[in-house]
Amino acid sequence: MEKHRVLIVEDSPTMRQLLVFALRRLRGVEIVEAQDGMDGLRKVSSDHYDIALIDINMPVMDGLKLIRLIRGEDALKDIPIVVITTEGAREDRDRALALGANEYLTKPIQANRVLSVVRSLLKVG
Ligand SMILES: [Mg+2]
Repeated sequence: MEKHRVLIVEDSPTMRQLLVFALRRLRGVEIVEAQDGMDGLRKVSSDHYDIALIDINMPVMDGLKLIRLIRGEDALKDIPIVVITTEGAREDRDRALALGANEYLTKPIQANRVLSVVRSLLKVG
């Protein structure tokens, strides 16, 4: 069976839990969690991932900085990125998309939207 490795970079444990719960409905999914941008950078640089879900507001290193670093790195620049933004934070969302994020999710997170966005970027049904 095809494996889909997903990296979740999100500082809120509750939010990570919601995302993990939604993503477990994908067949063959392998989920790794990171708790801030720096942790995310370490993990995304040291293993293969098929997609990354990245929160914007995080301590240590925020999501915008992480997206910029990923897109500037030859080995990482093609990873599909879904940015997670707060409702109303349209500027953050636009900046993330301008930096190369492929899609966005708005909090509060809806499992069906998470799945449809991730499925379409992974090109699985
Ligand atoms: Mg956050």
